Amino acid sequence: MRIILLGSGTSQGVPIIGCTCDTCISQNTKDKRLRTSAYIEVNGLKILIDTSIDFRQQMLRSNVTDLDAILFTHHHVDHIFGLDDLRQINQKYNKFVDIFGNKMTLDEIKLTFRYALDEKLIRYMAVPLMNFNYLENLPFRVKEKDSSEKEFCEVIPIEVYHGRIKIFGYRIGNFAYITDCSFIPEKEFGKLHGLDVLVLNALRQAPHPTHFNVEQAVATAININAKKTYFTHITHDLLHDEVNKTLPVNIELGYDELELIIDD
Ligand SMILES: [Zn+2]
Ligand SMILES: [Zn+2]
Ligand SMILES: [Zn+2]
Repeated sequence: MRIILLGSGTSQGVPIIGCTCDTCISQNTKDKRLRTSAYIEVNGLKILIDTSIDFRQQMLRSNVTDLDAILFTHHHVDHIFGLDDLRQINQKYNKFVDIFGNKMTLDEIKLTFRYALDEKLIRYMAVPLMNFNYLENLPFRVKEKDSSEKEFCEVIPIEVYHGRIKIFGYRIGNFAYITDCSFIPEKEFGKLHGLDVLVLNALRQAPHPTHFNVEQAVATAININAKKTYFTHITHDLLHDEVNKTLPVNIELGYDELELIIDD
């Protein structure tokens, strides 16, 4: 399994327009954060988590040219607004792309991208072409279009709280990805045993009502006890090299284009 962090930044990205703080003017490429998203290759399948506002730029930068499925964590703008550029993949491969999410997420995507449901525009391939797959909090399979039943990848949703709303993280093999989380219910921790890599959100040092701050993310990461944890969805509050020095062993700040290889 190959994983690329396409983006590691919070909703505004880093640098923030007009900001001259140490992180925003840092020359370290690890302090340049596009909006949070990840790409996974497993069993020959190409899977994206969220279509961030920077989707197009991220696909070009990491040379991702095809997708079999998109797993949405939730419907907030920073996680879905790049979706229109899915058209290029629809047209290149003449296919609809399977998208997965909970009911609130997919219903909100249908409202936000209402034009993409227009039958005439769909016929002209003038809109992002999606097969909507509504998820319960149960394991599901991602498959290649028209593939034999042998080629699939099992994905386990992890239902967490983002403030008051319930959103999904996802586990594939020994990799798990949770962003925009402020609370993980006890019953979901059972799905997070024996991880090689965990990607978890850590917004900033100060507490926030709907996101883990660094202290909460560290406590959660220690509790989950993956072999390695990378933080994501980071604001300009965290200067990469400085904050990394303060983190426990096996926990690091993630950064854009970080590539991970995990045995299937
Ligand atoms: Zn977000
Ligand atoms: Zn700044
Ligand atoms: Zn959010």
